[in-house]
Amino acid sequence: MKTIITILVSASLVFSFYTNYKTIDDIEVKTEITEKLEDNDLYTLREVYTIQDYLGYDFSNIDLKKLKGIEKKLRLANQVYKKDEYESEQYLRLKSEAYQMIRAEGYDVPLHSLYDAAEVLRGDISKYEYKLLLYLSTRSTKTKVESEMLFDSVIADFIISKYGISANELFLQSSFNGMQLALYNVNDMKIERNNLDTVIDKTDKHSIEKEHQRIWNRIVEIIPKKYLELVDRFEIITDGKEEITGFVETANNRWSLSVDPKDTIDGNGNFTPYSMKTIIHESAHIISLNKSQMTSDNNGSLYVVREGTLKKDSYLNVFFHRFWESLANSNEESDGYDNMSEYYNKHKSEFVSKYASRDPSEDFAESFAYFVLRPKPTGSLLKDKKVLFFYEYPEFVEIRDHVRDVIKNKK
Ligand SMILES: [Zn+2]
Repeated sequence: MKTIITILVSASLVFSFYTNYKTIDDIEVKTEITEKLEDNDLYTLREVYTIQDYLGYDFSNIDLKKLKGIEKKLRLANQVYKKDEYESEQYLRLKSEAYQMIRAEGYDVPLHSLYDAAEVLRGDISKYEYKLLLYLSTRSTKTKVESEMLFDSVIADFIISKYGISANELFLQSSFNGMQLALYNVNDMKIERNNLDTVIDKTDKHSIEKEHQRIWNRIVEIIPKKYLELVDRFEIITDGKEEITGFVETANNRWSLSVDPKDTIDGNGNFTPYSMKTIIHESAHIISLNKSQMTSDNNGSLYVVREGTLKKDSYLNVFFHRFWESLANSNEESDGYDNMSEYYNKHKSEFVSKYASRDPSEDFAESFAYFVLRPKPTGSLLKDKKVLFFYEYPEFVEIRDHVRDVIKNKK
C-alpha cells in the first residue's frame, strides 16, 4: 500500500507495458492486454532495483564499481523506507548520498529533499545553518502537520532562498520513493529547468532534455490548453520500468504533472500506448478536480474530495451522484475489502478496470480514458454507462476527437 500512500492527492498509480502500436485500433487491442496485467496485485512493490533498471538515464559513463555503490545506497534507502513507513533521517541521508555520487559523475539530478539541499550547500552555509536544515528536514517528514510544515518552510527559506531554492518544493520532492531525474517549471505551456536541478555539468553532455521536451510536446498535443495552463510543474521521475507511469499532484489549484520516461517511450523511441492512456487519465483528474469545479458552499449533498467541495453541476459531482451514491450508502465500499482485486472481481460489470474501482475520482479518470481511446460502448452494463456519461458533454467529445486525431497522425 505504501506506493499509494506516498503519492499525494490525486496521484495515479498505473502499470505500463511495452509494445509498439501503429493505429488507433491497435491501442484498443493493447488496452485489453493491459487489463489482464492489472489483474496482478497492483500494490506489489518491486523488491530489488538494479541501477540500469531503476534509473531512467543511461549511466554508461559511470564505471561499474561506482554504479554498484550507488545502487547499493538506493536499495538500502528503499529498505529503510519500507521499514520506517516515513522518510527517516537514515532514508534521507542514504538517498542524498546516492544522488551526490551521481552528481559527482557529472549528471544533473534534482535536489531530493531539504536534507539533500543541506548536503549540497554544505560548503556555502554555516555549520549552524547546515545542522538546522538537517533538523528541519527530518522533522518535517515526521509531523506532516500543515501549520508546522509551513513554519519549517519559512525558517528553511531564510537559509536556502538566496540560492534560489524553495523549502516547500523540497518537501514535495522527498515524498516520492522513486527517483527524480529532472524538474521543469511550466510557463505559458513551455518548460524550463527548475532551480531544484543542480546543474553541475555545464556542458550538458549527458542531457536528455530533448527526450523530456518530446514527452512534454506530446502532453501539449493531448491535454487541452484550458487545463494544461493549470500545470506549472513538470517532473521527470522514474521507479524503473512499470509500476508508476505518471501522476498529478495539486495544491491551491497549482498542478504538478510527473511522468516516468521509462514507461513513456519504448526502446525504439516510440510512445508506449500505455503512456497515452496515462496522460489522458491524468488530464481527467485536472478536468474534474480543478478549482473551477469547486464551491465554497456546503449544503451536505455535494460530493467532497480532498481538493474541496464539488459544485452541483461539476463533472465529478454529477458522476458521483449517478454512479456512486447508492454504493456509498450501501456500506460496501471498496475500502472494506482487503484489496482492490477482491472488490473488483465481484463488481466487474461496473468498472472499466480494476483501478477504476478504487474510488469515484479514479473511476472518473479511468472511464474518461476508456471513453477517449475505445469505440463507443453498445452494451448497457454500468461500466458502459460510465463511458457513455462523457458523450453527454460536447466539450468531452471534442477532446476525444482531437486526441484520436493526434494518435492517428503519429506513430
Ligand atoms: Zn488517477
